[in-house]
Amino acid sequence: MKVVNQLSAGGIVYKKKRKSSPENEKLWLICQHSQHKGWVFPKGLVGDHNLNEAVEQAALREVQEEGGVEAKIVHPQPIITNYQFKWKDQLIKKTVHYFLMEYISGDPKDHDWEMTDAKFVNEDQVRKTLSYESDREAFGKVLELKI
Ligand code: ATP
Repeated sequence: MKVVNQLSAGGIVYKKKRKSSPENEKLWLICQHSQHKGWVFPKGLVGDHNLNEAVEQAALREVQEEGGVEAKIVHPQPIITNYQFKWKDQLIKKTVHYFLMEYISGDPKDHDWEMTDAKFVNEDQVRKTLSYESDREAFGKVLELKI
Protein backbone atom coordinates (compact mmCIF):
# COMPACT_ATOMS: atom_id res chain seq x y z
CA MET A 1 0.00 0.00 0.00
CA LYS A 2 1.28 3.46 -0.88
CA VAL A 3 2.15 5.56 2.16
CA VAL A 4 1.46 9.31 1.95
CA ASN A 5 2.67 11.73 4.62
CA GLN A 6 0.53 14.81 5.26
CA LEU A 7 1.14 17.83 7.47
CA SER A 8 -1.82 19.73 8.90
CA ALA A 9 -1.99 22.66 11.30
CA GLY A 10 -4.70 24.04 13.52
CA GLY A 11 -5.62 25.86 16.66
CA ILE A 12 -6.78 25.02 20.14
CA VAL A 13 -8.50 28.33 20.72
CA TYR A 14 -9.70 29.71 24.05
CA LYS A 15 -11.86 32.65 24.89
CA LYS A 16 -11.98 34.13 28.37
CA LYS A 17 -15.56 34.01 29.71
CA ARG A 18 -15.36 37.60 30.87
CA LYS A 19 -12.54 40.11 30.61
CA SER A 20 -11.96 39.96 34.36
CA SER A 21 -12.42 36.20 34.69
CA PRO A 22 -9.84 34.01 36.45
CA GLU A 23 -7.45 31.92 34.33
CA ASN A 24 -9.45 28.68 34.64
CA GLU A 25 -12.63 30.23 33.27
CA LYS A 26 -11.98 29.62 29.62
CA LEU A 27 -14.18 28.43 26.80
CA TRP A 28 -12.67 26.39 23.97
CA LEU A 29 -13.49 26.19 20.26
CA ILE A 30 -14.53 22.79 18.92
CA CYS A 31 -16.06 21.89 15.55
CA GLN A 32 -17.99 19.02 14.01
CA HIS A 33 -16.52 17.75 10.73
CA SER A 34 -19.11 17.63 7.91
CA GLN A 35 -17.86 14.38 6.43
CA HIS A 36 -16.75 12.07 9.24
CA LYS A 37 -18.95 13.90 11.85
CA GLY A 38 -16.23 13.73 14.50
CA TRP A 39 -15.81 16.62 16.97
CA VAL A 40 -12.37 18.10 16.49
CA PHE A 41 -10.29 21.24 16.74
CA PRO A 42 -10.15 23.29 13.52
CA LYS A 43 -7.21 22.25 11.34
CA GLY A 44 -6.24 21.54 7.75
CA LEU A 45 -3.44 20.87 5.32
CA VAL A 46 -0.45 23.19 5.34
CA GLY A 47 0.02 24.73 1.90
CA ASP A 48 -3.53 24.01 0.84
CA HIS A 49 -3.87 27.48 -0.71
CA ASN A 50 -0.25 28.56 -1.06
CA LEU A 51 2.70 26.18 -1.33
CA ASN A 52 5.02 28.42 0.71
CA GLU A 53 2.60 28.74 3.59
CA ALA A 54 4.13 28.61 7.10
CA VAL A 55 2.65 26.17 9.61
CA GLU A 56 1.52 29.11 11.80
CA GLN A 57 -0.19 30.82 8.86
CA ALA A 58 -2.01 27.61 7.96
CA ALA A 59 -3.15 27.16 11.57
CA LEU A 60 -4.56 30.71 11.75
CA ARG A 61 -6.21 30.36 8.34
CA GLU A 62 -7.89 27.08 9.26
CA VAL A 63 -9.20 28.52 12.53
CA GLN A 64 -10.74 31.36 10.55
CA GLU A 65 -12.20 29.09 7.86
CA GLU A 66 -13.42 26.12 9.90
CA GLY A 67 -14.00 27.86 13.23
CA GLY A 68 -15.27 31.20 11.91
CA VAL A 69 -13.07 33.27 14.23
CA GLU A 70 -9.92 35.33 14.19
CA ALA A 71 -7.38 34.30 16.83
CA LYS A 72 -3.73 34.86 17.75
CA ILE A 73 -1.04 32.35 18.63
CA VAL A 74 -0.08 32.74 22.30
CA HIS A 75 2.57 30.01 22.58
CA PRO A 76 5.19 29.54 19.86
CA GLN A 77 5.66 25.76 20.27
CA PRO A 78 2.90 23.62 18.76
CA ILE A 79 1.56 20.41 20.26
CA ILE A 80 2.35 17.73 17.68
CA THR A 81 0.04 14.73 17.18
CA ASN A 82 -0.12 11.86 14.69
CA TYR A 83 -2.73 9.49 13.34
CA GLN A 84 -3.23 7.42 10.22
CA PHE A 85 -6.11 6.21 8.09
CA LYS A 86 -6.69 4.40 4.80
CA TRP A 87 -7.99 6.36 1.84
CA LYS A 88 -8.64 4.45 -1.38
CA ASP A 89 -5.42 2.44 -1.84
CA GLN A 90 -3.30 4.77 0.30
CA LEU A 91 -2.21 4.80 3.91
CA ILE A 92 -2.29 8.45 4.96
CA LYS A 93 0.06 9.25 7.84
CA LYS A 94 -0.92 12.61 9.19
CA THR A 95 1.01 14.87 11.53
CA VAL A 96 -0.89 17.78 13.06
CA HIS A 97 0.65 20.88 14.66
CA TYR A 98 -1.82 22.50 17.06
CA PHE A 99 -1.06 25.98 18.34
CA LEU A 100 -2.56 27.40 21.50
CA MET A 101 -4.49 30.50 20.44
CA GLU A 102 -6.56 33.22 22.05
CA TYR A 103 -9.79 34.37 20.44
CA ILE A 104 -9.80 37.91 19.04
CA SER A 105 -13.07 38.37 17.15
CA GLY A 106 -15.77 36.73 15.07
CA ASP A 107 -18.52 34.18 15.58
CA PRO A 108 -18.11 30.39 15.28
CA LYS A 109 -21.47 30.37 13.47
CA ASP A 110 -19.54 31.77 10.49
CA HIS A 111 -17.63 28.50 10.00
CA ASP A 112 -17.37 27.23 6.43
CA TRP A 113 -18.88 24.11 4.80
CA GLU A 114 -16.07 21.85 6.03
CA MET A 115 -17.75 21.84 9.44
CA THR A 116 -21.41 21.38 10.32
CA ASP A 117 -21.04 23.15 13.66
CA ALA A 118 -18.50 25.17 15.61
CA LYS A 119 -18.90 26.43 19.18
CA PHE A 120 -17.15 27.51 22.39
CA VAL A 121 -17.60 25.10 25.30
CA ASN A 122 -16.06 24.66 28.73
CA GLU A 123 -13.17 22.34 29.59
CA ASP A 124 -15.39 19.44 30.73
CA GLN A 125 -17.47 19.61 27.58
CA VAL A 126 -14.33 19.61 25.43
CA ARG A 127 -13.16 16.36 27.04
CA LYS A 128 -16.62 14.76 26.70
CA THR A 129 -17.22 15.89 23.12
CA LEU A 130 -13.90 15.38 21.31
CA SER A 131 -14.04 12.26 19.16
CA TYR A 132 -10.38 11.24 18.99
CA GLU A 133 -7.86 10.22 21.62
CA SER A 134 -5.02 12.15 19.96
CA ASP A 135 -7.07 15.37 20.24
CA ARG A 136 -7.87 14.68 23.91
CA GLU A 137 -4.14 14.19 24.54
CA ALA A 138 -3.29 17.42 22.70
CA PHE A 139 -5.87 19.24 24.82
CA GLY A 140 -4.32 17.88 28.01
CA LYS A 141 -0.89 19.12 26.88
CA VAL A 142 -2.19 22.54 25.92
CA LEU A 143 -3.65 22.99 29.39
CA GLU A 144 -0.16 22.53 30.84
CA LEU A 145 1.45 25.24 28.71
CA LYS A 146 2.57 28.32 30.58
CA ILE A 147 1.27 31.43 28.89
P1 ATP B 1 -7.46 18.01 7.25
O1 ATP B 1 -8.36 18.78 8.18
O2 ATP B 1 -6.14 17.67 7.90
O3 ATP B 1 -7.35 18.62 5.89
P2 ATP B 1 -9.56 16.20 6.51
O4 ATP B 1 -10.60 17.14 6.99
O5 ATP B 1 -9.48 15.96 5.04
O6 ATP B 1 -8.15 16.59 7.08
P3 ATP B 1 -9.40 14.22 8.60
O7 ATP B 1 -10.05 15.04 9.67
O8 ATP B 1 -7.94 13.97 8.73
O9 ATP B 1 -9.77 14.76 7.15
O10 ATP B 1 -10.16 12.81 8.55
C1 ATP B 1 -9.71 11.76 7.72
C2 ATP B 1 -10.00 10.43 8.43
O11 ATP B 1 -9.23 10.38 9.64
C3 ATP B 1 -11.44 10.25 8.84
O12 ATP B 1 -11.76 8.88 8.65
C4 ATP B 1 -11.47 10.58 10.31
O13 ATP B 1 -12.47 9.86 10.99
C5 ATP B 1 -10.07 10.19 10.77
N1 ATP B 1 -9.54 11.05 11.84
C6 ATP B 1 -9.62 12.41 11.92
N2 ATP B 1 -9.00 12.87 13.01
C7 ATP B 1 -8.50 11.79 13.65
C8 ATP B 1 -7.73 11.60 14.84
N3 ATP B 1 -7.36 12.64 15.60
N4 ATP B 1 -7.39 10.34 15.18
C9 ATP B 1 -7.75 9.28 14.41
N5 ATP B 1 -8.46 9.38 13.28
C10 ATP B 1 -8.84 10.62 12.89
